[in-house]
Amino acid sequence: MRRPCDLLLTNALIVTMDEQFSIHAPGSIAITGSAILAVGDVAGDFDAVQSVDCRGRVVMPGLVNAHTHAPMTLLRSLADDLRLDVWLMGYMMPVEREFVRPDFVTLGTQLACAEMIRSGTTCFADMYYFEGAVAEATSAAGLRALCSQTVLKFPTPDAASYEDALATARAFIAQWKGHPLIVPSIAPHAPYTCTAEIFRACAELASEFDVPLHTHLAETELEVERARKDHGMPVIPWAKKQRLFDARVLAAHCVHVDEGEIRTLRDAHAGVAHNPTSNLKLGSGIAPVAKMIDLGLDVGIGTDGAASNNDLDMFEETRLAALVAKGVSGDPTAIPARTALAMATRLGARAMHLGDITGSLEPGKRADLIIIDLDQPHTTPRFTRDANAIYSLLVYAAKSTDVVDAMCDGRWLMRERRLLTLDEGELRLRAAEVARRIDAFLIQREQSVLQKLVAIGGAAEQESFEIQVKARLASEASVLGALESEEIAIIRQVHYHQYDTYFFFDDAEQGRLRYREDEFLDAQDLVVSARARLTLTGPSREGAFGSVLLFRSRFFAPATHSPRFYREYFKPAREKEVEKDRRRWLVAYRGVQFYVHLDRLLNPPTGGYFVEVKSRTWSRRDAEDKAAVITQLLQHLGARPGDIIEADYVEL
Ligand SMILES: [Zn+2]
Repeated sequence: MRRPCDLLLTNALIVTMDEQFSIHAPGSIAITGSAILAVGDVAGDFDAVQSVDCRGRVVMPGLVNAHTHAPMTLLRSLADDLRLDVWLMGYMMPVEREFVRPDFVTLGTQLACAEMIRSGTTCFADMYYFEGAVAEATSAAGLRALCSQTVLKFPTPDAASYEDALATARAFIAQWKGHPLIVPSIAPHAPYTCTAEIFRACAELASEFDVPLHTHLAETELEVERARKDHGMPVIPWAKKQRLFDARVLAAHCVHVDEGEIRTLRDAHAGVAHNPTSNLKLGSGIAPVAKMIDLGLDVGIGTDGAASNNDLDMFEETRLAALVAKGVSGDPTAIPARTALAMATRLGARAMHLGDITGSLEPGKRADLIIIDLDQPHTTPRFTRDANAIYSLLVYAAKSTDVVDAMCDGRWLMRERRLLTLDEGELRLRAAEVARRIDAFLIQREQSVLQKLVAIGGAAEQESFEIQVKARLASEASVLGALESEEIAIIRQVHYHQYDTYFFFDDAEQGRLRYREDEFLDAQDLVVSARARLTLTGPSREGAFGSVLLFRSRFFAPATHSPRFYREYFKPAREKEVEKDRRRWLVAYRGVQFYVHLDRLLNPPTGGYFVEVKSRTWSRRDAEDKAAVITQLLQHLGARPGDIIEADYVEL
């Protein structure tokens, strides 16, 4: 007796991607509501409300994009060919802070959904801000997604603190849990943007709600080096120590992991998202995917965000995953086409912890499928001798543009290449408007070193003025002697080794930027601690009172990145390095506090001893008053008027 069903797809070449890699040629699929009822030679078993003849076409599971940042479609091709930290901290995050609001996220997600449906993706793992807006737009477009609310240690577009982000994630998960298309989750962004405490809190929250946890792990060598230095262990053991794997983890990248770490991930039932384009483009390296698959880890394929890819094309990504594995190992049998396609479907769904509902065409799973037209010159001819030939054709020859129909959860999202749930023309117009605004913002910012500094500093502009006078000395004796005298009261003193890198710009009005590393020395001249700071000094001296100079320092901040980062981000026209041994005293002299610096110049090699006296000042009037006293103090320290120099160390 025939059973009823809503839809019957008949005469198709069905590539199920189930555990047995079953292929039905020709075959049928019966669907009712959102579920697959039967797959195979089943056309005669059903009375369908509607039948679709799929002759000449492949029916396969919709592709699973195991890691992306959907709204970043709006940042596509904004800044490229940069190192990860400069790209992320210098461009992506500042632009995100300025522009990312719920409406931006909605539009970006809609654009991403349009692109994904067109290219055969029906399910994706997302990580972004305002994840509620991502979930809203995705479910309206009809796609399935793991939506992960991001948590970072610094302020984000949707959270002033990590506690706020955690509260947002909690509310988001409570709201969306149980939705037919959306699986909510939490995303501590990465070890280098989170703290141990954040990782632990996120894992606890994920466990409490029994939802997956989505993160980036071991993406770059630098990240692993830092973990070794800071925690004495690589990234995966560190994450394990924070009890991250108490949750069901989806870890993007895992480029720099060894076999032991792969086993740890596998034993913790964690899934990995392999992002070959993003890893190649950012020069991060190539994940040991063949080894992961051999050891039984669930590895999916992801496009990562459109800002680092720069598209969401899973056909391209799957092909690349197969090719890169061969190229890097010198072994053409590594990641065969069939395995690559499994990664892009069933294994990806498992990595996302959605393996029981999607990723293959099997009775009981959701009807998430795509139909591909193989009657194209580039997919002709078709061989049948080897059952694996169809996988070769799909992975190495077919293109995303060959996808003609897409269905998710039993609902058609695209028929004959026409989108049914989104208006592409309108999305293009609105995206163009956003691009115009971001362009204007960046054009203005790039004109100013100060604005660029504020953009990455996360701190506001701060102005301070100081008066300063400096003299060359034959020896340090006069200064050391004077400091013993009764007129000078020493409040505190410190000794350090100072390394300065000055960045100069073509436009002198921009001022100059100094990256300073201080190594604090103890009584035995051993380094006890170190710090790095950035100072942007105004372009010109604000004024002078005799030999006393009034300087304006416009910005002062801890330097959290390497000099290399600042060099690549600010692109200075020229640089100069200065190295010195500095003894610094805070003293009181005639009722005024001054800093006395006794410097021995080590580089430039001309060397020599210098004494420098400085005081913070708040107004021109105050500067004038202090200028008289500072000159007397300098003389007291043994400098004669003829020894005074107006040059700075960088000018010597
Ligand atoms: Zn990512």
